[in-house]
Amino acid sequence: NFRCRSAFKLLEIDDRFGLLQPGHSVVDCGAAPGAWSQVAVQRVNAAGNDPESPRGTVVGIDLLHVPPLDGAHFLCSHDVTDPATHAKLLELLPNNQTHVILSDMAPNASGLRHMDHERLITMCLSLIDLAEKILQPGGSLLCKYWDGVRVHELQQRLSSVFSSVRTLKPNASRKDSSERYFLARMYRKPVKWR
Ligand code: SAM
Repeated sequence: NFRCRSAFKLLEIDDRFGLLQPGHSVVDCGAAPGAWSQVAVQRVNAAGNDPESPRGTVVGIDLLHVPPLDGAHFLCSHDVTDPATHAKLLELLPNNQTHVILSDMAPNASGLRHMDHERLITMCLSLIDLAEKILQPGGSLLCKYWDGVRVHELQQRLSSVFSSVRTLKPNASRKDSSERYFLARMYRKPVKWR
């Protein structure tokens, strides 16, 4: 029983690409009400339901309250784009790093398509800064966006630090919505020049 139908989008993507493996750490950005975290807990074995497999970690973040879930740790009333949140995340993650960053984040839609697009792209770009702090080399990022003029810029920024970037429109996503996902895999930490 999932808390929301969005679970089926993540199940579909994970069935196809095998992002979430037992023992993995997962950071779920924009986690409320918690359906993606439910999927992640099952797939990475974060509640330890399968004693034969390694136990993973799931940390969810949201501005809103997320009801408790066995196997997940939630940072409620936390903003994913706030560096103070990044510091707390580091403390919660084994070895201070994660295998996967998921983001189904969305701003409250204003109804102005261009403005909503801009705001969500800005949030997605902030995930690239988050990745630099917590994503392990080889790791993956799955993020939702709304289609529009700045998608190309987001794709280019992702391609500069991930070896593989693809666009997904899950069957479980409404056909008439501009919602898409980028799946970025094989993270390479950017080289810092002094
Ligand atoms: N994936 C979730 C699930 O399956 O239950 C649904 C996520 S819902 C579509 C989007 C969420 O993003 C909202 O709960 C919203 O509060 C959250 N959100 C938006 N901006 C955020 C931010 N800056 N930091 C954290 N969460 C944010």
